[in-house]
Amino acid sequence: MDALRFLEEELQNLKDQGLYRQPRTLTGEQKPRCVYDGKSVVNLSSNNYLGLANHPRLIEAAIKATEKLGVGSGAVRTIAGQMDLHKEFEHKLAKFKNVEACLIFQSGFTANSGTVSCIMGREDVIVSDELNHASIIDGSRLSRAQIKVFPHADMDGLRAVLQEAEGRRTIVVTDGVFSMDGDIAPLDELVKLAKEFGAIVMVDDAHASGVLGRNGRGTVDHYDLHGQVDIQVGTLSKAIGVLGGYVAGPQKLIDYLVQRARPVLFSTSLTPAVTAAGMAAVDLLIEKPELIEALWNNAEFFREGLSALGFDTGVSATPIIPVIVGDERKAMQLADDLFEGGVFAQGLAFPTVPRGKARVRTIVTAAHNKDDLQFALDTFAKVGRKLGII
Ligand SMILES: *Cc1c(COP(=O)(O)O)cnc(C)c1O
Repeated sequence: MDALRFLEEELQNLKDQGLYRQPRTLTGEQKPRCVYDGKSVVNLSSNNYLGLANHPRLIEAAIKATEKLGVGSGAVRTIAGQMDLHKEFEHKLAKFKNVEACLIFQSGFTANSGTVSCIMGREDVIVSDELNHASIIDGSRLSRAQIKVFPHADMDGLRAVLQEAEGRRTIVVTDGVFSMDGDIAPLDELVKLAKEFGAIVMVDDAHASGVLGRNGRGTVDHYDLHGQVDIQVGTLSKAIGVLGGYVAGPQKLIDYLVQRARPVLFSTSLTPAVTAAGMAAVDLLIEKPELIEALWNNAEFFREGLSALGFDTGVSATPIIPVIVGDERKAMQLADDLFEGGVFAQGLAFPTVPRGKARVRTIVTAAHNKDDLQFALDTFAKVGRKLGII
């Protein structure tokens, strides 16, 4: 008797519904042009916004830290796994983010889920944008607080939910940049509303860290809301190019997370190589703002190119640029045909995006050159015409 046989049926169900995904395999480095599944393609699927995943300065920092400190931190932080390098990185990040303190986590995912579940409890209310990331949703469920979802970026909807929650401890959580549409949260209005109701504000800046604001300081800097957002979460895994996440905020928040956040208490801390490479990345953000300028120039070039061809790029205002097709099968066909034509961009359908909003999502980086992007536009044009999308 095979107790796991039900999984075969579940897998078959996914296949029957066309929801079974075989991740493509990268051979070699994560670059603007690289080899996936043995095919050379222009890569519009990574989160390596600034090309830092293989920047010589980060590689050198990782090697040096490894030679000096070894490959592992050896324990969870509160037992014996806190290294002076971790503290040094947190001080650097706090200064960069213009906050009292920072705490690094193993990933953006654990930073979100660990923080929400740690500071909110059964009696409290979590008010969450409907398009927030899975790690916020998981953390909210773990907290056992009441979860109230408001329609995406809808401030009237948010007000209604805040009115329902009045009198209870409440947190409003939003992504800074939304990963499926590439739009920026209306954080200025959101903060005003939350303040009116005395609610805590938390922003998940996974796609804004290293992308938005001066030197990539994030959504708070973009709107000049310094000191007005209680909790900022960032990732070190996307534009920063390495791995990990962090929470930025007041000292008391960080002190409490060190005492109570479960990923801090029960999971091993970042390796020396990862920590040192992350630090080198923050140095680069400060020293080389031209990286972020190149990213935004490329994003504008590509978005305008797609629009001029007649594609629907929705409400994108960042380097995340969706090509909204609508029909699920057509969107998947577009992604497949693009790949055949030498362009790797992810096809996304329900339940990742709403029904009837299937799309191919592109992410351009600072490392793409104009030839890469023009090739991608030409391929989009060819395939889009063939499929009757444009
Ligand atoms: C990617 C992502 C995360 C998770 O970050 P990792 O460092 O990859 O774990 C969290 N929130 C959002 C919005 C993301 O896009």
